[in-house]
Amino acid sequence: MTRNAQLFERAQRVIPGGVNSPVRAFRQVGGTPRFIDRAEGAYMIDAEGTRFIDYIGSWGPMIAGHAHPEVTEAVQRAATRSLSFGAPTADEIDMAEAICQLMPAVEMVRLVSSGTEAGMSAIRLARGYTGRDAIVKFEGCYHGHADSLLVKAGSGLLTFGNPSSAGVPADLARHTLVLEFNNIPQIEALFATRGHEIACVMVEPIAGNMNFIRGDAAWHRRLRELCTEHGALLVWDEVMTGFRVALGGAQQVYGIRPDLVVMGKVIGGGMPLAAFGGRRDVMERLSPLGAVYQAGTLSGNPVAVAAGMAQLRIIQRPGFYAQLSAATGQLMRGLEAAAGRHGVRFKTDSEGGMFGFYFSDALPRNYPDVARADVETFKRFFHAMLDRGVYLAPSMYEAGFVSAAHGPDVIAATLEAADAAFAQLAKA
Ligand code: PMP
Repeated sequence: MTRNAQLFERAQRVIPGGVNSPVRAFRQVGGTPRFIDRAEGAYMIDAEGTRFIDYIGSWGPMIAGHAHPEVTEAVQRAATRSLSFGAPTADEIDMAEAICQLMPAVEMVRLVSSGTEAGMSAIRLARGYTGRDAIVKFEGCYHGHADSLLVKAGSGLLTFGNPSSAGVPADLARHTLVLEFNNIPQIEALFATRGHEIACVMVEPIAGNMNFIRGDAAWHRRLRELCTEHGALLVWDEVMTGFRVALGGAQQVYGIRPDLVVMGKVIGGGMPLAAFGGRRDVMERLSPLGAVYQAGTLSGNPVAVAAGMAQLRIIQRPGFYAQLSAATGQLMRGLEAAAGRHGVRFKTDSEGGMFGFYFSDALPRNYPDVARADVETFKRFFHAMLDRGVYLAPSMYEAGFVSAAHGPDVIAATLEAADAAFAQLAKA
């Protein structure tokens, strides 16, 4: 038995499914998850010493590459000053100021420890601010695992074919109205009949939890107009897209200003750190100023803030996103060319350092399009790549991530593996 198989067997005895987050379990693709020992730059090394080019990047945070010396040094320095205080620090003000400066829609921000917590708090705030209960989300978007948001959600829920979770009271789920992504007539019809009940519309501006699907600019503009007209808040979940598709997130890409923004992943540099922020008049409704309660023992944790600030400094350097986008674009074009050489139907899309690929002739526009994709071909491609040392997300419902450490050699090695993987698919 291999070391990974031994670890998986041991893990399954004490951890449900052997993993602490479902998609890690390789359920969609089959086989044994790789237990990771360490990672450096663009590479992860598993418990057997096998090295992989990593396109998961901890599902988004590791945009500067793994174990970046500036980030790890900042963590080490912070750790010597104690791991947590439960009292305010100057460093967390630096982080709040940096986020407000970089994210066009954020005037005030509160730090929390996970994207789930940030999303949950944002909808509570929207409900408290508007005095309304209903929230709108879109099929296939994932906003963390808070009860109200686990309705027709994406990511692991899609991977396991059950987009709504057991354990969510029906009484609560009925306040979550779910519409199709990119569908303007549907949202117009809903606002026309129930606009006065809607606290907020929450959306991943570029969906990254049903593969990678761009929201149409016209649809996003319509969501903005309808929310303003009806007194609902527009909440953009930029946990994945924030500081990832561009320095100023999807807000910068689309030039649209949401009322609230949910952030995570990149701002923590790989540590548990997330945030929600937005309009000052809305954020001032939070406790201790206002009546909407939200708190956290480890919120603004000094070690997490140190890691996040170190990474935020790196990504603000001139040319960071130009280089990241160029590397991602080169990878996408190379994959399409390789697929074309072997007659495999294949399409890609990307923005900044985030990408998606599909075994199809057309880019998907919503969840039903993604659900039609060919899982069997995806599985074969995933394993063909893994066998050649390229670690892709083990589910066709996830986006992929490139880091600044994915230089030309890494991209070239990936494309060489892909050429062989597509050749293998074409033969089957
Ligand atoms: N929102 C989006 C868009 C996400 O991609 C995720 C996590 N993948 C979350 C929220 C939840 O964040 P976390 O896993 O940190 O709770």
